Amino acid sequence: MNATAFAQTLHGQKGHEVHLPRNRMLIGGEWIESAEGQCINVEDPATAEIFTRVPAGSAEDIDRAVSAARKAFESASWARMRPLDRGKIIENIARKIEEHAGELALLESYDNGKAVHHALAVDVPAAVDIFRYMAGWTSKIGGQVNPISGDGQQYHSYSVREPVGVVGQIVPWNYPLAMAAWKIAPALAAGCTIVLKPSELTPLTALRLAELALEAGLPEGVLNVVTGYGQDAGQALVEHRGVDKIAFTGSTRVGKQIVRTAADDLKRVTLELGGKSPSLIFADADLEKATLGAALAIFFNSGQVCLAASRLFVERSVYDQVVEGIAKVAQGFKLGHGRDPDTMLGPLVSRAQQIRVLDYIEQGRQCGAEVVTGGGTGGKDGYFVEPTIFSNPDRDASIVREEIFGPVLVATPFDDVEEVVKAANDTHYGLAANIWTRDLSRAHLTARQLQAGVVWINTHGMNDPSAPFGGVKESGWGREVGEEGLLHYTETKTVTALLGE
Ligand code: NAP
Ligand code: MG
Repeated sequence: MNATAFAQTLHGQKGHEVHLPRNRMLIGGEWIESAEGQCINVEDPATAEIFTRVPAGSAEDIDRAVSAARKAFESASWARMRPLDRGKIIENIARKIEEHAGELALLESYDNGKAVHHALAVDVPAAVDIFRYMAGWTSKIGGQVNPISGDGQQYHSYSVREPVGVVGQIVPWNYPLAMAAWKIAPALAAGCTIVLKPSELTPLTALRLAELALEAGLPEGVLNVVTGYGQDAGQALVEHRGVDKIAFTGSTRVGKQIVRTAADDLKRVTLELGGKSPSLIFADADLEKATLGAALAIFFNSGQVCLAASRLFVERSVYDQVVEGIAKVAQGFKLGHGRDPDTMLGPLVSRAQQIRVLDYIEQGRQCGAEVVTGGGTGGKDGYFVEPTIFSNPDRDASIVREEIFGPVLVATPFDDVEEVVKAANDTHYGLAANIWTRDLSRAHLTARQLQAGVVWINTHGMNDPSAPFGGVKESGWGREVGEEGLLHYTETKTVTALLGE
């Protein structure tokens, strides 16, 4: 399908008028092609059809974008705007996203493959919420008076929070709009200016969001979006000496590379990386809720979720019952095109991701783990993988140790709390965990022992703009959202004055 046909298809859908980004990116308020004229095809993963193109930004484009962001940062138009006025613009962006919810959900579905109704229920509201929440912070970033002892003379000392400056933000393809929003909103609230690089696989909603932000009153140059490949545009952004901070969401491998590169000029770096999160189900849990909860915790978004609970631990007395229950839920999920209202699981984002996940499944089979359900592509064209469960794999198997980022669950029985905590913590990752039990003391005591940045009890994936999110160990540095997420976009300045003649 060519771009015109695509736009007409969308046009035909009631209530959605889609602005399809076409080979333009946003630098300094202008929509431009890449300096070298190269572009990237954008593909629908449910059909493998190419329906538009975006620029393949280069180091030269990054340089222009960083200059534009620096100019905007140094002008009075953003960082020194009245905080309440800055908040109003951020709130306007939330409203614009709300007004264009249907359009953004459709765009996300075409780009990433996810079900439109999921994008409408999860991705778009997450974006609205974070802008609305951060809008309120602009007028509340205060400071403190320091009660210094000094040398006996009179001093007045205070510390203020200043915006860190120009920030480079790099986001992945699994929640393209929501992840861009989680990055942009706190940076704007802090008074920073931005160069954002979306994933080459899913650039469209970030471009549309930037367009809506301009309509909402964001001054030119405050938000620049450079589309392009990670090794070109992404790498150039991390290397650029004019960038004060890099905020990255993506794989642990690339996160480590970013840290090495950023060491050259000691840029600030925050990282939201991968995970291999555990679900812990105790025999006294509400098993119906736990079964559905654990199934959604791994299979939602076809397992392409950083906080996916891909390792399941179930108390032995209810192990068979729970694993069978999750298998039944998995078999009931309808795989399909994101635009089909009955679709529960869309395709994976790309052919490469499908091959990668199927390869892990094959490795699981070869190491002798039992396949309880799934394991194939569901006989569909497009990049589909069935929800798959392995029972009792070897603890050193790749399916147990490595992040698959697909709909693959490994299940293991346990006998006591000590054993399950040790097994749950036996990973380099430490992003999230969930616990299912009716025993509140055990729930909270177990939560204390789990090495994870986020622990959910009798639920999973309940994120909120007010609740800091991020990982320990190799799952990242720093936290996203909440006050802590906001403060990562600031630097503290202490001012001390000697009082007296
Ligand atoms: P990825 O390969 O690390 O890519 C993430 C982003 O980094 C993309 O925009 C990518 O661009 C860019 N990139 C790649 N190489 C780069 C380089 N050398 N320098 C600078 N940027 C570079 O990850 P992914 O495969 O897109 O996403 C899946 C991963 O993200 C999983 O590991 C998942 O756990 C993690 N994730 C974590 C969170 C969280 O909050 N903790 C949330 C979502 C996803 P290209 O797309 O052009 O390669
Ligand atoms: Mg795509």
